[in-house]
Amino acid sequence: MKKLAVLGGEKSFPDGVAFVRPPAPPLEEVVARLAPSYSQGSLTNGPLVRELEDSVAERLGVRNVVAVSSCTTGLMLSVAGLAQFGEINGPVIMPSFTFSAGPHAVAWSNLGVRFVECDPLSFQIDLAHTSMHLEGAGAIMATHIFGAPCRPEQVEAMGKSAGIPVLFDAAHGFGALRNGRPLGGFGEVEVFSMTPTKPLVAGEGGLVCTDRDDLAEYLRLAREYGNPGNYNTRFIGLNGRLSEMHAAIALASISHIDEHLETRRRLAGRYADGILAIPGVRTQAVDSEDLSTYKDFTIAIDAGDFGVSRDQLVTALSAEGIDTRNYFDPPVHRQDSHALRSPSDLPVTDAVSKTVVSLPLYPALTDDVVDQIVEIIASVGQSAESLL
Ligand SMILES: *Cc1c(COP(=O)(O)O)cnc(C)c1O
Repeated sequence: MKKLAVLGGEKSFPDGVAFVRPPAPPLEEVVARLAPSYSQGSLTNGPLVRELEDSVAERLGVRNVVAVSSCTTGLMLSVAGLAQFGEINGPVIMPSFTFSAGPHAVAWSNLGVRFVECDPLSFQIDLAHTSMHLEGAGAIMATHIFGAPCRPEQVEAMGKSAGIPVLFDAAHGFGALRNGRPLGGFGEVEVFSMTPTKPLVAGEGGLVCTDRDDLAEYLRLAREYGNPGNYNTRFIGLNGRLSEMHAAIALASISHIDEHLETRRRLAGRYADGILAIPGVRTQAVDSEDLSTYKDFTIAIDAGDFGVSRDQLVTALSAEGIDTRNYFDPPVHRQDSHALRSPSDLPVTDAVSKTVVSLPLYPALTDDVVDQIVEIIASVGQSAESLL
């Protein structure tokens, strides 16, 4: 067994293992894609953005894709559009165990947020808890946590039974499959992110997918200030456009995405095989019929069985040069921005947040580094007594 750096042993990775390395496509490919638009003077919301929207719509089998400047913008405008159509009349139910952008998007439309619990094994929205909080709710917004589908057809069914729209924060989910079906076509709308920590990158950007033509039309105007072309704005929009530069990066990124996701899945499988042999450590539960993107490879620590807490593990990994993230801690209902607006009592979410940690995962990571990280985690558990 390795002598841990935190106990005075040698640091395993003197140069460090980064938490994330954006899967940016080769620069030559980006430049080649951008060149025609650039030389025509078309720098934003032009032919490359159209090409991106069309190719994603075809790939995912959805009627409309509207590219916007970020996933946050896409979520904001989707909520605003549905509210303007009179379809959201009350607080939006969402998990607190998610990234702040979803709840922020709801708050920007002056709607309330009603936080619900997550499942302790899958970390996804807890539908049993959701079903107890539907009274008076205006919509449900669920996140596909860490790129694993959140049983979207069950969330859809719950929304339908309550007569309220369902939106999906699919920021992590480009390329994920629910029982063979790509994410993107569930609910009224699904929104992907293309910021550098996500599986599909554009630098910045979001992709709103919807089968509804009325919502797509709203979104296309909304990302242009609400201006239909004659400067007589129809409603309060904003500048939510995607630039041609970003679309060029996204198109090049899509041409590599299948290969990229395959590598992520293979490395995640390798991690999981090693992790599952360690007492007190488990991986995010993903339904066996689903394929995750593994936007994050996230484990949960049961300190009783493992021997030390998540925080002690993180300290030990950091001493070895391994960078990790405590996604999502604090959960959104504990963040200063939402704690007073939406006071919530969510003991399961609090417990999950304190026990999870996401490990480095990206195509440039080698099998050998994955194996070493697993070994170090095992050593931390075995060294628990000296660490306490
Ligand atoms: C990253 C992220 C977002 C925000 O995406 P942007 O493109 O940066 O706006 C939204 N939701 C979740 C769950 C995310 O992880």
